[in-house]
Parts: sequence; C-alpha cells; structure tokens
Amino acid sequence: MRSLEASHRNAELALAALKGLGLAASPRNFEVWLAHVEGRIPALSRDIQKRLAEGGIRQSHADEFYNFHIIRADLAKNVIDIVERFENEIISLTDLIESSGENAHERGEQLQRFSSQLRQSAEQYPGVGALLEGVIAVTKSVREENQKLEQRLAETSTEVASLRSNIEHIQQEAMQDPLTGVKNRKTFDAAIAKLVLASQEANEPLALIMADVDHFKTFNDRWGHQTGDQVLRLVAEVMSANTKGQDILARYGGEEFALLLPGTTLENAVMLGDRIRRAIESRRLKKRRTNEDLGVVTMSMGVALLAASDSAESLIERADAGLYEAKRNGRNQVVSAPSPDPPATGRQLTG
Ligand code: GH3
Ligand code: MG
Ligand code: MG
Repeated sequence: MRSLEASHRNAELALAALKGLGLAASPRNFEVWLAHVEGRIPALSRDIQKRLAEGGIRQSHADEFYNFHIIRADLAKNVIDIVERFENEIISLTDLIESSGENAHERGEQLQRFSSQLRQSAEQYPGVGALLEGVIAVTKSVREENQKLEQRLAETSTEVASLRSNIEHIQQEAMQDPLTGVKNRKTFDAAIAKLVLASQEANEPLALIMADVDHFKTFNDRWGHQTGDQVLRLVAEVMSANTKGQDILARYGGEEFALLLPGTTLENAVMLGDRIRRAIESRRLKKRRTNEDLGVVTMSMGVALLAASDSAESLIERADAGLYEAKRNGRNQVVSAPSPDPPATGRQLTG
C-alpha cells in the first residue's frame, strides 16, 4: 500500500508543480514532471532545475523536455535492449552453423531451442520481429527436413547476415539525433561516462565544449521553426567538419551541442571552440526557397578540462558554467572554466 500512496503523492506533486509554473496539466507535461519528481531521469531533473534557475519554464521548454528525455529514453532503451539480446542469439546461431557438419540431430535440437527463443523475442518487439520471421521459418524447416540440412543452414546463414546488418542499422539510428545526424544525448551520456574514467585512469587530458546558439528563440520567432531546424543542421555540419578521430559530437538539447575531446588540452580545446565559433559567425544565412537574407547566427561556448576530482556530471557542470559566463559577457565567445583542483605545489628543496 505504501507504493500506492507514494505514487499518488508523486502524481499530486507533479500536478502542483505544473500549476505553480502555470503550465497545462496535459498528459505530456504530466509525464515529464512525474518522471522528474520520481527522480527517474537525472538528466531531465538537471535540465528542469537549470531552467528554473534561469528564470522559469515555458511550454516550449516543457516540449523540449518531453522530446529529449521521455521519447528518446523509451525508444533508445527498447531498441538497444532488444538488439543486445538478438545479437547474442545470432552469435550462437552463427557459431552453430559454422561448426562442422557432424551431429545433425544435436544441431536440430539446438535450432529448435533457438527458434522458440527468437519467437519469444520477436513477440516482444514487433518492429524487429518482422525481420526475424524469415529466420524463424528457415530454422523450422531445417528441423523438419533433416536431409536438406546443409542447404538450409546455408540459407539461414544468409538470413542471419542480412538480419545482422538490419540490426546494425537500427542500432545506428537509435544512437543518432534524427534532425542533425550527430550523436544523441543518450549516446553522449554513455560516452562521457566511459571517457571520464578511462582518461583519469590513463592520466590523459579530456576536454569538453558545451556550445549553444545565441538568441535562437528570436531567430525561430522571426524566421520560423523549419528555418531554425536548417540552422541546427548547419551548426552540426560546421562542428562536425572541425572534429576528427575519437572526438564525440552530440546534440545535447534543443540548440545546445556538446563536443567531447579525448587527448586534448584546455588550450587546444579553446582554440578549436573559437575556430568553430568564427566559422559559424562567418556564414551568411539564406532562406532556401526564397533566398532571403537571414543574417548570421552566433554561438557561445564553455570549455572545461577534466580534473582529478571530476565526475562526468561535474565536468559538464563546469563547461556549462563557462557557457553561462559566455552568455553573460555578451555571447558569441568562448569561455574556459577554471580547474576545481588546487594547483599542484612542488616542495622547495633549497631554503
Ligand atoms: P540564449 O542566447 O540565451 O541561448 O537565448 P536563446 O533564445 O537561444 O535561448 P532559449 O533557451 O530561450 O531558446 C532556445 C530556443 O531554441 C527555444 C526553442 O524554441 C528553440 N529550439 C529548441 N529545439 C529546437 C529545434 O529542434 N528546432 C528549432 N527550430 N528550434 C528549437
Ligand atoms: Mg540559446
Ligand atoms: Mg539553450
């Protein structure tokens, strides 16, 4: 009963918060704030707190929260879970097929097990399930016609290869931001968590740039959301053209991008940020259909270097603080965040 009470209390808290903010108690808004009060999506709660600190939350912000935290989280999670399971099953089938032609009976039994596993998985995820129908059918007929085993196995092998490439495609899409094609927030969160640990362990530098389009609301209001979308694609293109190797570029939120730079010093990251900033500022934007002059857009950036005491979260926070400072100082600039650690002190040997 306690959990029932807790769920009612959370629902009331979510509704009260929406009321306090002057937002409609729509199903979407409710879903966002319920996830927030339940503390289910830490990144969402961070964004909400940040917006509140910046002076309030409007419906457009709430929509952004929904799109970036609720939809993405569900979609990516389902796909990745299911894909991981399939991958394991496919690996075992492939191993089986590649093993020598002895012991057809045993293989038949293994295939039977595999087939029923596949069916269970397919039922839970109709999108991928459709792709699996072919494989299921083939494994079934392998069992039924033992004499044609070799040929069927060859067919199954082909099916599996195409299934694998389909799954890779789905997985790739689940990692991307659909608008700009750069990595999405979820992929970024996973990458930064890994890279922070690896960089600290190897004592390698890791720099982070958080970049946000200046006065984008005004741009959107003036030229429309679709033209705004074009600008986001352009920003992603320019940023992407300035990255290489292991760099990780992601759309972090609405008009905010994160660029994670393994093996890069603070100084070099600031230089890179400034190169991107200048490249964007120098683009004279044109409306596609009418060729109308849209002026220029600019970006502000905060840069932070991973410190020994940092976590992924504190690194992001410090880059964000730099970004906030860049906005406060008048925008269209790059600000580097100071290190949180005291400078290393060398003991003097001479007196
Ligand atoms: P600042 O310089 O302080 O960053 O001001 P701003 O107007 O850029 O910041 P604000 O956060 O007030 O507004 C961000 C705007 O970005 C509001 C929202 O409509 C827009 N936006 C967010 N996501 C998208 C998107 O996917 N497409 C388009 N076209 N606009 C978006
Ligand atoms: Mg902005
Ligand atoms: Mg922003």
